[in-house]
Amino acid sequence: MTTTVIKNAAWVIAWDEALRRQVYRRGVDLAFADDRILFLGRDFTGPADRVIDGRTRFVLPGLIDIHSHPEHEPLYRGIREEHGLPSMHMTGLYERSQALSATDDEARAASAEFAYCELLLCGVTSLVDISPPWGGWVDLFAKSGMRGFLAPGYASARWYLEDDHELRYAWDEARGRAGFAAALGTIDAALAHPCGRLSGVVSPMQIDTCTEDLLRDSRAAACDRGLSFTLHVAQSVTEVREMIRRHGQTPVQWAQSLGLLGPGTILGHALFLDHHSWIRGWTKSDLGILGDSGTAVAHCPTPFARYGQIMENFGDYLRAGIVMGLGTDCAPHNLVEEMRKAAILARIAARDITTVTTADLFHAATAGGAKALMRDDLGRLAPGRKADIVLVDLACPQMQPTRDPLRSFVYHAADRAVREVFVDGHQVVADGRVLTLDQGAAGARLRAAQQRMEAAAPGRDYRRRSAAEITPLSLPMAE
Ligand SMILES: [Zn+2]
Repeated sequence: MTTTVIKNAAWVIAWDEALRRQVYRRGVDLAFADDRILFLGRDFTGPADRVIDGRTRFVLPGLIDIHSHPEHEPLYRGIREEHGLPSMHMTGLYERSQALSATDDEARAASAEFAYCELLLCGVTSLVDISPPWGGWVDLFAKSGMRGFLAPGYASARWYLEDDHELRYAWDEARGRAGFAAALGTIDAALAHPCGRLSGVVSPMQIDTCTEDLLRDSRAAACDRGLSFTLHVAQSVTEVREMIRRHGQTPVQWAQSLGLLGPGTILGHALFLDHHSWIRGWTKSDLGILGDSGTAVAHCPTPFARYGQIMENFGDYLRAGIVMGLGTDCAPHNLVEEMRKAAILARIAARDITTVTTADLFHAATAGGAKALMRDDLGRLAPGRKADIVLVDLACPQMQPTRDPLRSFVYHAADRAVREVFVDGHQVVADGRVLTLDQGAAGARLRAAQQRMEAAAPGRDYRRRSAAEITPLSLPMAE
């Protein structure tokens, strides 16, 4: 057994079991042995193999990101920040995913390695990675040192466009079934991996691309295995209208009628519910259905904010009883910035500063995500919980003056102040650098992969356009 002690930590965010919430503590010792927290309090007197001076450190539980797509999103840096179709209520999802996607497993490996580094460097220690299975995925994730909830995606249909206003579906149920079987195989391989940090989430990709039978069987497979289940729901106006056209119900109402909701179900985004001002449904029941059923929502503000879309609003979701967690979805993979945006956008949507607090967002990024994953041992610093720990440097200028370090971290410093990260008791970030992966080398491979992806665009785009025509550079190129 190896014991590490963070001695005299200036500030700690600890889990108070009686209050069921995160609280500040000052001037305490945090000891962990192997993968578990042993002690949190004053004057640890046990033996220690390593002592870390905590006097300049703000110690947090590792952050939990419950929605991401590392195998391709970094390939979109410089591409998707301003890409969206006004004719599809601003979303660029369908046009982009048709014309621009990873061309090969080397591209996926470079993209994922780059994303895992970004995530570790902002203090994410647990990640739901929703990706089509690719060669080398399980081993690369294990190598990263992060705690992984691998969510291999599959669907009965793929989207395609023939114009810029109608979303079409190419159905192939046999492909969906084969993808489902392969996904369960990948999850079993993750669970059996000797690193012991990998698990899985059953992940049919989107509510509009999967048949009723595939969705029901997927949720049943998740329940049988004691795993979470995730599905993109209400992520665009186009999708909501399509589901109402098919079923006469919103996506959330239809999901409820199929038995897909409840504890352990994580809906990706769930932005366009029936109360949303862009939907204005004749029912106003979606929030209540999600809250009453104990369903979780993975909120990822950045991609939607770029389109000009916001959740309406995070505070109302909380008050409805929905289990709220956060995700990064796209690059940058910075969960601290997602906390900041989620807070500010909720207040804009509500025109009310009291609708959410920083504590609400930090809870979502830690204990909320853990609840969505049915893992009470994560997202909390307390004896017996997993030793997933982030150390923030209070000497970082953006952390000063340190009156309220969580506010300094969320609204000012973010990843710039993260210095050390431990997952399962193992150090994976030291002095602000990832120890397990090579972000610099991955970045070089990523640019080459992005060029291959751009070169393939005219053969995939419905109008045979180049990537430069689909998403021009932000400034014109001078001669
Ligand atoms: Zn997603």
